[in-house]
Amino acid sequence: MSSHYDVLGVSSEATGEEIKKAYRKLARKLHPDVNPGEDVAEQFKAVTHAYEVLSDPQKRRVYDTTGNENGTDNGFGGGYSGQGFAFQDIFDTFFGGGGHGGPASRVRRGQDALISVRIELRDAVFGVNKKLEVDTAVVCPTCNGSCCREGTHPERCDICGGSGQVQRAVRSILGQVMTAAPCGSCEGFGTIIKDPCNECSGQGRIRSRRSLTIKVPAGVATGTRIQLSGQGEAGPAGGPAGDLYVEIRVNNDSTYMRDGDDLHATLSVPMTAAALGTELRLETFDGTQTIDVKAGTQSGEVITLRSLGVTHLRGYGRGDLKVHLHVETPGKLDAAQEELLQQLARLRGEQFTEGKLVASGGVFAKLRDKLGNL
Ligand code: ZN
Repeated sequence: MSSHYDVLGVSSEATGEEIKKAYRKLARKLHPDVNPGEDVAEQFKAVTHAYEVLSDPQKRRVYDTTGNENGTDNGFGGGYSGQGFAFQDIFDTFFGGGGHGGPASRVRRGQDALISVRIELRDAVFGVNKKLEVDTAVVCPTCNGSCCREGTHPERCDICGGSGQVQRAVRSILGQVMTAAPCGSCEGFGTIIKDPCNECSGQGRIRSRRSLTIKVPAGVATGTRIQLSGQGEAGPAGGPAGDLYVEIRVNNDSTYMRDGDDLHATLSVPMTAAALGTELRLETFDGTQTIDVKAGTQSGEVITLRSLGVTHLRGYGRGDLKVHLHVETPGKLDAAQEELLQQLARLRGEQFTEGKLVASGGVFAKLRDKLGNL
């Protein structure tokens, strides 16, 4: 599939003005009124859709970073107030909606909607099917979006004669000028609904709660948005629904921390085990793994378990699981343990003065070396 930039024939660096210009040019060429035909109509749709995304700075930013289209936050819970970016708006902008004399249509595309959903880290690793409750406008089941009570129809507006516009004479310094304004009686629709549907109060849509199961792909992270086309708010008067965007939030995990597609965990190793070497068990998302701790392991060493991290959202494979080893020095020693450790120190040739161990030069030497490099 070609990118929105390709569709408009602009570079990905194009300014808003350049995008608008490119769209205008293409839209004039491809507009169904000028250039009828199935292919052209499809092309026009693609071009308009590309413009819809790229002309909105927020949608464009999301598209640039994720390669996906995304909606705006203002769609959610917005009720009926305000219209999202609708195709009709574009027609009005470039082809003079209202200026060409026809009445406006009640039918409009609905707004996009946004909801967020929480998932566990495990679900981000493998993907999950998630059941959601969605609250959006849907087409009114009583009138099917006609807005009218059963058996009735919108009637032609007497005030504007169905044109949706009234001419008004306005005095100006140039004399009397005639201007066209939307008809106040029918709000520019050209028709009046005298007997509105009871259920939707003549809106053609009602709010409704429904459940929806979505497939959350493996590799998502907090902030990832999943687009479900046509699952957003139904438009007025039976207009097509906008899109639904599901924003993912991944809960923190008690064991694993995520960094990109890698997972990190810290394992404590007793000092003795670190010195002698041991095997540890670690519960991972892929079951129990055996961690081989070699004799002489130092605190801070990292053991990498390849491909046990998060599945890459794009492409194949998985990140790694990195196990950070933390060597635990015993806090409290009884007399026998202390005696044993002292014995060990003597055997290792460490220095004592007045019964107290003198730290061997290693640490100081290293510190001095470090300071020397500054
Ligand atoms: Zn209705």
